[in-house]
Amino acid sequence: MKTKPVIIPIAAGKGGVGKSTLSANLAVAMARLGRKVGLVDADIYGPSQPRLLSTEGRRPEAEGNKMIPVQSPYGVPMLSMGHLVQPGQAIAWRGPMAGNALGQLIDAEWGDANVLIADMPPGTGDVQLSMVQKHKPIGAVIVSTPQDLALIDATRAIDLFRTSDVPIIGIIENMSGYACPHCGEISDPFGSGGAEAAAKEMGVPFLGRIPLAMDIRAASDAGQPPAAGNGPYAGAFMSIAEQLAAWIRTHGG
Ligand code: ADP
Repeated sequence: MKTKPVIIPIAAGKGGVGKSTLSANLAVAMARLGRKVGLVDADIYGPSQPRLLSTEGRRPEAEGNKMIPVQSPYGVPMLSMGHLVQPGQAIAWRGPMAGNALGQLIDAEWGDANVLIADMPPGTGDVQLSMVQKHKPIGAVIVSTPQDLALIDATRAIDLFRTSDVPIIGIIENMSGYACPHCGEISDPFGSGGAEAAAKEMGVPFLGRIPLAMDIRAASDAGQPPAAGNGPYAGAFMSIAEQLAAWIRTHGG
């Protein structure tokens, strides 16, 4: 019998820290490493993965009562609420409905994918609870920016997983230093290294940092994840994906 793919939520305590960007790029980077990986856009209320992975306007087909994921051009099958509603249509559901929607995305026909990266909504609400209680992720990745406030929020996200016995695979510091679009030099308007220090304090592994770079935003908006190319930031995503793949291997996924 086919086993269910293991689930790795990519979470953050608040929005705008780059969870979706990292989820898309880590899924693409893991596919480049040869892992059979799918992507679930669990950000039910604010889906952005169809744009990030160039599958806007596509609709999943159904097989029996299961959805068949949409194939992105980057070797990653994916499902998002954004594939089921019209662009810009408001998604205003109560908690239990959002939980059911998450279940439908996860219990789709994922083919030979044995890892699902799940881009979580911000915060610690119903979708998160449904994820940890019903879907039993194998381990979670936390994204934070270097600022203190984002770190405090990240701590809350970590607590949610820890109290549900979901191991924290590690923290990624995103927007870590500003990469000058002209010369590539990294400067630190908000400081950097905060997430690494916090990870150490909390006894959680630190997986790496991604700079704040205009190229990352522009490529993401154009549906061309930097991890798919050979530009200056692909290596940073690949390095984190390698650690993730190694963790999954040693934890039975
Ligand atoms: P979240 O999913 O946490 O709400 P997003 O991934 O949607 O955050 O990112 C928020 C915005 O920041 C997007 O416009 C995205 O392109 C941009 N962004 C994310 N990470 C970076 C980065 N490292 N460099 C530049 N822009 C980034």
